[in-house]
Formats: sequence, structure tokens, C-alpha cells
Amino acid sequence: MSSSALATLRRVFGHSGFRGEQGAIVEHLLAGGDALVLMPTGGGKSLCYQLPALLREGTAVVVSPLIALMQDQVEPLRQLGVRAAFLNSSLEAAEAAAVERQFADDALDLLYVAPERLLTPRFLGLLERVRIALFAIDEAHCVSQWGHDFRPEYRQLTLLHERWPEVPRIALTATADAPTRREIVERLALQDARQFISSFDRPNIRYAVAPRDGGHRQLLEFLAEHRGESGIVYCLSRRKVEATAELLAGHGLRALAYHAGLDAETRAERQRRFLREEAIVMVATIAFGMGIDKPDVRFVAHLDLPKSLEGYYQETGRAGRDGEPAEAWMAYGMGDAVLLRRMIEDGEASDERKRLEHAKLDALIGYCESTGCRRQALLAYFGEPHPGACGRCDNCLSPPRTWDATEAARKALSCVYRTGQRFGAAHVIDVLRGADTAKVRQFGHAALSTYGIGRELDAAQWRGVFRQLVAAGLLDTDLDSHGALRLTAAAKPLLRGERTLHLRAEPPRRERRRGATAG
Ligand code: ADP
Ligand code: ZN
Repeated sequence: MSSSALATLRRVFGHSGFRGEQGAIVEHLLAGGDALVLMPTGGGKSLCYQLPALLREGTAVVVSPLIALMQDQVEPLRQLGVRAAFLNSSLEAAEAAAVERQFADDALDLLYVAPERLLTPRFLGLLERVRIALFAIDEAHCVSQWGHDFRPEYRQLTLLHERWPEVPRIALTATADAPTRREIVERLALQDARQFISSFDRPNIRYAVAPRDGGHRQLLEFLAEHRGESGIVYCLSRRKVEATAELLAGHGLRALAYHAGLDAETRAERQRRFLREEAIVMVATIAFGMGIDKPDVRFVAHLDLPKSLEGYYQETGRAGRDGEPAEAWMAYGMGDAVLLRRMIEDGEASDERKRLEHAKLDALIGYCESTGCRRQALLAYFGEPHPGACGRCDNCLSPPRTWDATEAARKALSCVYRTGQRFGAAHVIDVLRGADTAKVRQFGHAALSTYGIGRELDAAQWRGVFRQLVAAGLLDTDLDSHGALRLTAAAKPLLRGERTLHLRAEPPRRERRRGATAG
């Protein structure tokens, strides 16, 4: 490590040493190389370009997608005595002109700029006339068409490389599974860049997934173990956010609701309370969380499936920033997958994109149904091997039993077929268990050959069977008729007796609520 880099790290930033890969990344940029940096949130990405910005001649140009992010970076830098500024639409014309002048006079170490601003002929002309230390492309996953942060202007950033091939580039992100990473490399022409991939493991976070069995009661039991702690409860819809916050408040918890339907002032106020006060439970949609840096969030609970495993990692990653033990807990039921599938199908996206979203959902459901180590499964999704099982997640702490469910699955599939593939799991289970309900009478289902053939399992166990049959692709849901279950081609070998099926046993009722017995 060059001694000047370390000296500057200490003198300007006040850190005693580099963290993780920072030193190697800085060295690589100082030597003129390009870099792709994958580091989890809080890992210390900014320093990777801020330090070379001070050590290389000229100004570092940092592309950043959000005005708020630029402000969060520039203000602390100035306090450290670094000559930093930003150019975006929040500035008055005169202010922007002043920044441009400083830039042209070589009076800035770092200039943060929005991508659409950077791409204007005016700014590109300016770039021609100044000395550029490096280009940093922050939140590089914005180049990915498949992510929800997609920014079309990011696609045009290759022109930086074309016009200034000798200027080193560094692209940074905390959000990139293998396909997204490939897309970043391709779209930003980073084929020759060295990749610095940090571990995404968050060893202090304990992961658990519980089959949903009365979601609100499970949540209350979960929260009872986190009395006096701050945390976030994520729900899919605004309505559910409001209802859940009300429920928790009714049980004496300091719960606040947060979603995009609230006015900006209310949201800012609640965010402030979450950051400043103790033991606030924020019940929120995913509108909450981006840029929230509260170190002592002790738990993140999901009452509904997140959108993807990547989203899950980001959302749960808000817990335990201080390194102290934290818990990521999720309640998961069959209805979630059905709902998300419908949302994908009803969306405006192209067929190609829908296929990708279905594949992402499959990966997420695979994680929920997994009988192995959750941490391994999560990290594997990011292409990171984890040596051995973690010993701390629910599956490690109480390994799920599996059972030969061939016979039960055959009964379930036959009953779906006999009832005409027109009903959801609840009614089919009633028929299997020989229940006498209004619906059974209305459709004459007591006369079916499958009526009452499944009394050996209780309703919760049957729900587990159906959930896993959907997850395994033997059943799917008819999106046009309220999630009626249908057989898929994959169900045939099982019905014909050509294959067996092992399923995860539903935990006994007392354990079911937590998803784990220990602690
Ligand atoms: P990221 O952008 O990856 O989320 P930041 O760049 O915001 O992370 O850094 C996270 C925190 O870690 C900041 O408070 C920063 O000051 C601190 N930090 C970064 N590098 C070091 C280091 N080498 N030593 C100590 N603290 C560091
Ligand atoms: Zn584990």
C-alpha cells in the first residue's frame, strides 16, 4: 500500500486503516485500472473513490442517481475540508454556474453529478476542458433494466469510456446478483475492469421463515421477544400496513405506519421519530428504508413475501448495522406466491421480463421452502459460497423433518382434479378432510371419491402440502379465477405412481409460530 494513501486516509478521513478490500481498490485506481466494486451497504464504498480523488490529479466526477444521496455525501466531505460539490436540478441557475466555474478552474476534488446532467452537451463540453481524476459510477445496478432502480441514462455512460479511455472508472453497487453483475459489466463496458467482491454475509443477523398460521398472532409472539427494541415490519399493501400498525398500537407497542400514500410531512416526521426515539416499530411498505442508517435496528419482520431475494437481502440488511445480534423473520403462506404471480402477470412488462420475474420469485420461494441453511441459500443466490451450515438460522437450529408425502400429494392432486380445478386450497382441504360446509353441500362434493380421504392430516398440515406442491410447480394457480388450483404437467408422473415426493414437515403447532425452537 502506498504510504501516501494511508497517510491521507488518516489525515483527511481520520480512519486508522483500510477495511476489507478498500486498500486494494484504491491502489488499483491509483495505478490507472478500472474497477467493479460489490460491497454490502455500510461496507465503505465511498472511500474507494474519494481517496483516489484526493491523490490523483484533477477532479473526480461521481455519477449518482439521487439528489439526496449527493447531499449526504458532499456535506460531510466539506466538513473534512475536501473540496466537493454537486450539480443537479436542486440548484438555482446561478449556483450551478458557480459550481461549473469551480470545476473549470480545477478547484474541486470531487464533483457529484446526476446522469442526465452529465450527458448534456454543455457538461460534456466542460469535461473536455478540465482534468479528470477518475469517473465513479455509484449505484451501478441502476443500469440494469430488470431492477426496480432502472435509470435509462445509465446506459449511455459508456461514452465516458469511449471519449476518455485513459481515465480510470470505478462502478459501485450493493445490489447485484450474478445476472445483474453481468449486465453491469456489459452495459458499462467494464469487461477489463477488475472485480472486487466483498462478502455479503451478515453474520450477526439470524434468519428464520415461519409458515403462516394466523399472521397477526405470530407477529405478536415474535414481537414479544423483542420488547423495547427498534425494528421494521414490512407488509405488501398500504392497507395492511395501516391495519397492522393499528393492531400493534392496540397491544401497547409504539408502532408507526409508513407508506407512499402518506403526505411527505407525515413520512418525514415518522422517519425522524424512528431514527431518534427508542423502541419504535415501523410498520411499512418497501417505500421505507432506502438511505435509513439506524445502527440499532434489532429486527426486520416480513408479513408478506418480499419482491425478490435481492430485495429481501436489502430489507433485512437494515437490521444489526451495529454488529450486535439481530433477527430477520418472515411469515410465508401459499397465498403470497399466488398474489405475487398475479402481480407479475397483470403487470405491463414484456414477456421476457415477466419470465425473469417469475424466475426470481421461484428463487425466493425456494429460499422459503428450503430445508437447508438459510444463510447458505441466501449467499448462494449472490454467487457466494458459505463454508458449511451457519448453525444460527432456524433450519440449522432445528433441522426440519421431511416425510414421504407421495400418498398425501396424490390425494391432494386427485382432489384438485375431481373438484374441477376451480377452487382454492381451503375448499379442497375441506373436501379432503370430509368437512360439512355450505360450499361442500352447494357443489355436492360429499359425493366425490376423494371426499374424506385425507382425515389423517390436520388442515395446517394440508396447507403445508398444498403450499409445497405450488412451490414445487406440481400445482399452479389460475390467475383469472381467484387463484383456483390447477394441475401442471409436472403433476402427472406423481399421479401415475412414477415418482415419490418428500416434503418438509410442518412444525408442530407450538413451534410453528416462530419457525424455530431455539432462542
Ligand atoms: P456504503 O456506501 O458502502 O454503504 P459508506 O461509504 O457510507 O458505506 O461507509 C459506511 C461507514 O463506514 C461510514 O460511516 C464510513 O465513515 C465508515 N468507514 C468507511 N471506511 C472506513 C474505514 N476504513 N475505517 C473506519 N470506518 C470506515
Ligand atoms: Zn444456517
